[in-house]
Amino acid sequence: ENTPRALNFGAGPSPLPLSVLMKAQTSLLNYEGTGMSVMELSHRSKPFMQLMTHLKSTMRELLEIPNTHDILLMQGGGTGQFSAVALNLLAARAPRRQAYYAVTGSWSKKAAEEAKALGVEVVEAVNGAKELGGYTGIPPAGAWRLPENGGKAEEEVAYAYYCGNETIHGVEYSMPETLSNLNSFLPVSVPLVADLSSNILTRKIDWTRHAVVYAGAQKNIGISGVTVVVVRRDLLDTATPEHIPLVLDWRVCAQADSLYNTPPRRWGGLRGLDQRAAEKSSLLYRTMDESDGYYRCPVDPGARSRMNVVFRLANEDLETKFLEESVKTGFVQLKGHRSAGGIRASLYNAVELSAVEALAKFMREFQAGHPL
Ligand code: PLP
Repeated sequence: ENTPRALNFGAGPSPLPLSVLMKAQTSLLNYEGTGMSVMELSHRSKPFMQLMTHLKSTMRELLEIPNTHDILLMQGGGTGQFSAVALNLLAARAPRRQAYYAVTGSWSKKAAEEAKALGVEVVEAVNGAKELGGYTGIPPAGAWRLPENGGKAEEEVAYAYYCGNETIHGVEYSMPETLSNLNSFLPVSVPLVADLSSNILTRKIDWTRHAVVYAGAQKNIGISGVTVVVVRRDLLDTATPEHIPLVLDWRVCAQADSLYNTPPRRWGGLRGLDQRAAEKSSLLYRTMDESDGYYRCPVDPGARSRMNVVFRLANEDLETKFLEESVKTGFVQLKGHRSAGGIRASLYNAVELSAVEALAKFMREFQAGHPL
């Protein structure tokens, strides 16, 4: 009972605010006077429908989503949407089969591979690993290959796709600046799709340019089990020539108000603060910059993620020592993704500034204690 809350820098599922957990605890046995937990309520019952409506309206308000777009709550996670994007947009944009994917890290690469497996003619708009020798930034404008404005693109290209924040490599588009690479080349008529799984609710989204935005809830919104999919309504109006698995079909979900089948249950309580994201991440990047090269960030300054701060130490032994001591100090999940190595501190919305301050202090103390 006296165990202090862990200083959790995990990449997802992310920590939840204490206030949200306390509220969930008290409402577990009696949700809004129903005498039941939210998990036991029928998904057709009034209190549950009200919860869903509240969720969607809160999301619409926070992200300033216009009425041109519908909000869907789906299952299957971000991975489910890798498939759903391909299947739904091939259907909505038939007979077009081509799609441009900007590959800037593992997640956009996976999405492109899944689209290809489902019959999309994938064109790599850009590949960070090939252009930069690794996923260390967003390649400059000259490296991009996008369809030109005009008839051919409109006739052939079903959609274009990018991942706003690469969770494993710590590479983020500093929208709108870097995103203009994509925007300035892409014909406006081609739907733009964004995977914002790890940076939704941390910055504004330009809805005039985005046809589809999706994000799993488990990082910046709440717990795993729900995926938020925002889709421009005209893409839901089309007749589907081929069958799309029911749980992945955006139109089925939209027509049923996201209650086609039994949905998972989740808590509310969102706080997306652009400024907080900047403040927390810049504290860590500053600590690295002031470390005389002791801590090195492999990502270009212009593409450094505010959500997943990755860095390396001089060698793997020192990194192991860093991780061991961090655990003793009370930090958890600072180990980088197994495919990337190094250290990764994920700073989703629920991570407190005080935890990040404690981490920066620990980094300075570790450096002093283990000079090179
Ligand atoms: N896209 C991004 C950017 C992610 O970070 C992740 C998971 O970490 C995914 C997609 C896959 O999401 P899920 O685990 O919900 O399938």
